Amino acid sequence: MDVSGKFISGIVPPAERTGPAWWFGFQGSRLLVYQGSDSVSIPCLVDFSELGLTALSQHYLGHLDGRDCYAVELAEGTVLPPGMSLEGLRQIYGRLDETLFWVATRAVQIVDWDRTHLFCGRCATPLRTKTTERAKECPICGQLHFPRLAPAIIVLVERGDELLLARSRHFLSGMYSVLAGFVEPGESLEEAVVREVKEEVGIDVKDIKYFGSQPWPFPHSLMIGFTATYAGGEITLDDSEIEDAGWFTADNLPPIPGKISIARKLIDWFVEKQKKLPKRCNVTQ
Ligand SMILES: [Zn+2]
Repeated sequence: MDVSGKFISGIVPPAERTGPAWWFGFQGSRLLVYQGSDSVSIPCLVDFSELGLTALSQHYLGHLDGRDCYAVELAEGTVLPPGMSLEGLRQIYGRLDETLFWVATRAVQIVDWDRTHLFCGRCATPLRTKTTERAKECPICGQLHFPRLAPAIIVLVERGDELLLARSRHFLSGMYSVLAGFVEPGESLEEAVVREVKEEVGIDVKDIKYFGSQPWPFPHSLMIGFTATYAGGEITLDDSEIEDAGWFTADNLPPIPGKISIARKLIDWFVEKQKKLPKRCNVTQ
C-alpha cells in the first residue's frame, strides 16, 4: 500500500480508537512485517491484539494521513502468525513504503529508549513515563530522561573534479564512503567537520556548507550532512579507523553505500554536479 502525506508526531493517544492504526512491532531492533513477493507491509488494525500477540509496551507515535501510529515491543521468542516475519530496517529499505519506513525508524528508537531507560541514572529509582512529553521522570529526584540522540557530521570533501572517499575497517568488503563522525560536547558542527577530516585523513578543509540531515536509527544517530573544499595537506592514516582513503572522480567510483543513506545522497549530488560541467579536454587532444 502506498502511503502519501505527512507524519505528525504526537505523545497523547486518542481516548478511543475508532479506525485501523499502523502498528510498528519490534523484537529487539527487528520490525514485524507481512511478507509479500517483492515487498513487505506492516499491520493496519484497530488493535494490535487482533494478531494474537502480546505487547510488552505500547507507545503512541502520532498520525500519518489521520491514521494513528503505534510502536509496540514484542517479547523475545514470540511465535509469529503465518506469513509474518521480523526484519532489520536496513534489510527492508526499498521493500516497505518509504513513508512508513521513516516512521518505523522513529518507532524503533522509542522502543529502544523505553527498554534501556528503566531506572534513574542518578539515584537508580524505577522511572515513570511522562504523559505530556516524550520523557521519563524519576519520582524521587525529579531527573528527566529523554530519548537518546547522537548527532554525527558527515561530509563530502571536494578537490576540483575529485571527491574524497575512505574505507572504514567496519565497512563491507570493498566499499568506500564519505567521512563521518560523532560531534563532541561543546563543539559546533563546523568544528566537528574540521576535526574529523583532520583526525581521520590528515587534511584541512574550508568552505563548509550545510547539505541536509537524516535520522539514522542504528541505533540513535542524527546525521548532519555537509560539503567542504580541500584546503591543504596530504592523506595520512596514522592512528585512524580508516584503512584506506583516496581521491576519486565521478566516472571512476569504487563500490559506495546504498540509496538509504545520506552518504549516498552526497555522492549522487557530486556526480550529478560533475555531469553538468563542460567536459575538460585531455592534454593530448
Ligand atoms: Zn532519580
